[in-house]
Amino acid sequence: MSIESTNPATGEVVDTFDETSSGDREAHLDRAVETFEEWSETPIERRQRLLSAAADVLRENSAEYAELMTKEMGKPIGQARDEVEKCAWVCDYYAEHAAEHLDDEVIASEPEARTLLSYEPLGPILAIMPWNFPFWQVFRFAAPNLAAGNVGLLKHASNVPGCARAIEDVFREAGFPEGAFTTLLISSSEIDEVIEDDRIAGVTITGSDGAGRSVAETAGSQLKKNVLELGGSDPFVVLEDAPMEKTVETAVQARLINNGQSCIAAKRFVVVDEVYDEFLERFVEEMDAQTVGDPMDEETDIGPQAREDLAEELHEQVEKTLEAGGECRLGGEPMDRDGAFYPPTVLTDVPEDAPADQEELFGPVATVFRVPDEEAAIEKANDTRFGLGASVWTEDLERGERVARQFESGLAFVNELVKSDPRLPFGGVKDSGYGRELARDGIREFVNRKTIWVQ
Ligand code: NDP
Repeated sequence: MSIESTNPATGEVVDTFDETSSGDREAHLDRAVETFEEWSETPIERRQRLLSAAADVLRENSAEYAELMTKEMGKPIGQARDEVEKCAWVCDYYAEHAAEHLDDEVIASEPEARTLLSYEPLGPILAIMPWNFPFWQVFRFAAPNLAAGNVGLLKHASNVPGCARAIEDVFREAGFPEGAFTTLLISSSEIDEVIEDDRIAGVTITGSDGAGRSVAETAGSQLKKNVLELGGSDPFVVLEDAPMEKTVETAVQARLINNGQSCIAAKRFVVVDEVYDEFLERFVEEMDAQTVGDPMDEETDIGPQAREDLAEELHEQVEKTLEAGGECRLGGEPMDRDGAFYPPTVLTDVPEDAPADQEELFGPVATVFRVPDEEAAIEKANDTRFGLGASVWTEDLERGERVARQFESGLAFVNELVKSDPRLPFGGVKDSGYGRELARDGIREFVNRKTIWVQ
């Protein structure tokens, strides 16, 4: 069987790949176990050096990888180059900090006993990854885990097989041993079998909450450690003392980055009554000023949605929201051109329980809510089953921090858009999943935190 990747801007086939056969899958799993035996014993300094080499490979081939991402899933080319650079950064980060994050933690010294925690790798880890940041999502898993002494197997989203292969090549070219990082081009129907396989020690998924539930169920039945990075419907709270120009500018960016397809994009804009009209007017104006077009064009702000079916699903959510009584202030109709394009869209007066209120809208659609005051803003911000990120905008930093502490989310930002950063733990609560990636927390997810008592 073969897998095709399709350019969502043109509908043209980018490339065709052979699926991994069941025989090859077996061989890859065997190899992963063998490599783990040797890799987990390799001094961490060497593992860190190889990550540095991976950062070099990424930077050397940045233009090529960026073009591949843009062709397979439609992100604007400048953002694709930034993504490659961020991948190099996460490799550099763990090349520098892995050893210190995994150092033994002495709990008590003698006289009665010396007790400590040591962090030991678990084995081959399966990573199920999405198409929206086809390089970044993979590297933020791979860099800490390879540094920790685990080996990785990647089941990438079916629409980005070229990226999956290219990432495997990055590690090969950097000098990692064969089997340290392997791509399996398999369909999602084969995933349960892989999770259940004794050779797999743990599993991580970034994707929809539906896929997350399925993975967690299978992993749970096998008592295997799992990390879930799922969707979000992040609130962006604007208080009456928000610095309006910067707030609006960032609001647009926070909604439209990656063609609106980010788990931590701001999706629900919760604005207090006093500044609602001013915010809405400026926000609609700025959203309207964005250039939608060919993602290979440097001037383009918004490319196509990653697949036709995703653009259709998004439009259905918009239509249902309008049927329920919502108002459309901008966009709201698929564009009259080839490709999976959807225009910047702004919805208001959205009733409770309408899709734009309760579901994740994974595209350039913003919903703006009017609330009387700060207390109501926090309540509205938390009125969602998701809990990934949230931001609040105010000139008063103490107030901002107080509000941030009341968000039911894994990430809370004051006067900045929610973003991931190798130095900071990243993850959610509620239906956004559990576990953390990045920083010290991320490298300690798939390790045995072994308690040692020496008397
Ligand atoms: P999915 O969650 O279906 O895909 C993400 C990954 O999970 C892919 O590798 C996919 O493989 C795999 N997968 C799908 N179903 C299962 C399953 N039952 N068990 C195990 N793995 C599975 O996302 P979609 O591409 O369908 O996008 C749908 C929605 O998901 C978006 O509109 C958005 O709301 C959310 N999403 C969230 C992301 C995030 O960053 N949190 C990223 C992507 C999507 P395959 O491609 O082969 O189906």
